[in-house]
Amino acid sequence: MAIIKNVTCPICGTFCDDIELTIKNNAVVDVKNACAMGEAKFLSYADSHHRNLKPLIRKNGELVETSLSEAIKKSAEILAQASYPLFYGWSSTSCEASRIGVELAEEIGGVIDNTSSVCHGPSILSIQDMGISTCTLGQIRHRADLIVYWGSDPYSAHPRHLERYTAFSDGRFQPSEWRRYVSRLRGVIGKKKLERASKLVLMNEVSVPPITGPQVPPTLETETERKLIVIDVRKTHSAEFADYFIQVEPNKDYELLQAMRMLVKNEELEIDKVAGVPVDVLEKIVDVMTSCKFGVLFFGVGLTMSTGKLRNIDAALALTRDLNSNTKFVIMPMRGHFNVTGANMVFTWQTGYPFAIDFSQGFPTYNPGETSAVDILARDESDAALVIASDPVANFPKNAAQNLVKKPLIVIDPEKSATALMADVVLPSAFVGIEVEGTAYRMDGVPLPLKKVVKPPKNVLPDEVILQRILKEVRRLKKKKTKA
Ligand code: SF4
Repeated sequence: MAIIKNVTCPICGTFCDDIELTIKNNAVVDVKNACAMGEAKFLSYADSHHRNLKPLIRKNGELVETSLSEAIKKSAEILAQASYPLFYGWSSTSCEASRIGVELAEEIGGVIDNTSSVCHGPSILSIQDMGISTCTLGQIRHRADLIVYWGSDPYSAHPRHLERYTAFSDGRFQPSEWRRYVSRLRGVIGKKKLERASKLVLMNEVSVPPITGPQVPPTLETETERKLIVIDVRKTHSAEFADYFIQVEPNKDYELLQAMRMLVKNEELEIDKVAGVPVDVLEKIVDVMTSCKFGVLFFGVGLTMSTGKLRNIDAALALTRDLNSNTKFVIMPMRGHFNVTGANMVFTWQTGYPFAIDFSQGFPTYNPGETSAVDILARDESDAALVIASDPVANFPKNAAQNLVKKPLIVIDPEKSATALMADVVLPSAFVGIEVEGTAYRMDGVPLPLKKVVKPPKNVLPDEVILQRILKEVRRLKKKKTKA
């Protein structure tokens, strides 16, 4: 039995690096420090029910077992014959694999795109235009006294984000707001008990004033310790923990952000409500934001994918910039997959562009909306595809998914997925961060090592090695064709 400490969790962009694993007979038998999602992954990654273990190739409409070299040869043939293939995924694999992917896309003259084109693509476009005032999660943990989550529910999607870096973390200069939350919780429980007792004993309802209502609680303005505000279209799990929750009307984030910018600049709003939020509430929230010592605004796909898209992010970046006239304020996108930031980084080093890169002219070009995976598939332009560590069939719009599967499709994935079931070639790969090491980037752009804690199953190779072998075979086929 071996205990491995400081393992990084290869699931979400929080990319926790304090996981402790107990290994017995080449299997993970115990997990410490991970959230439920992380623990489930480490304990069940090897489950053969949802694991690709053998290379498969489609023959007479059926996926049948084949040898690894046959599957690699077939993949290389498909790609070498294609004139405009699509290479998609990359957010749940290592930077090393992404690097080979870019080389492969360039060699063939295809398009390479990662999952940010369907999540934080608008954020990237906006950051390229506006610039970003940001920092590391470590600085936020130690210094931030005001945390705002906008269009993001970290409790559900990044379960340890609150505990490791924001409201419930104990920083060097900022204590956790845990104690305040517990006393607030006691108040809510007491109120519920009182309501229940009134119903049972008095047989009628006693009106108990709400603990938190539409009015901004005075503690939000007077409290000097860390404070948490959640802004969303519905009351999420994270909003339950917040000192204050602002419910914005759906698709009105842009209006709210611009109204906040006006208030930061001491301009007057001659209306009562903006996006469903009373202006007097907004004034108090802006006061809290301008009077904090170090504030941070985390935003999720609730902001990037609602009406306005990149313009919402423009407004959020501008609000952060405006707030810096009064105090220190930073902003950060809540990246989903553990290495989606790494995919953007590697693509940018190699080509100058972070996603949706087209090599069909012999050099990289970039025009999201035209060269992004969903748009190419919707127009039915690609003639083959390689999907790695992603499941677009389950997530893309119907016509894009239909066009993806009707052309030759190669899937490299450790797990069975809807896309793998529709593929012509399936190459099982080792789990990055469990069965193979590598590098990935946390959501704040900090690179961390991924550890190998167990050996992969026999004949199951890392993504990087599979891609290298496909690239080598493609080059061999191209050379042969040139000679002939
Ligand atoms: Fe893993 Fe994310 Fe949970 Fe951290 S929060 S343990 S990275 S799933």
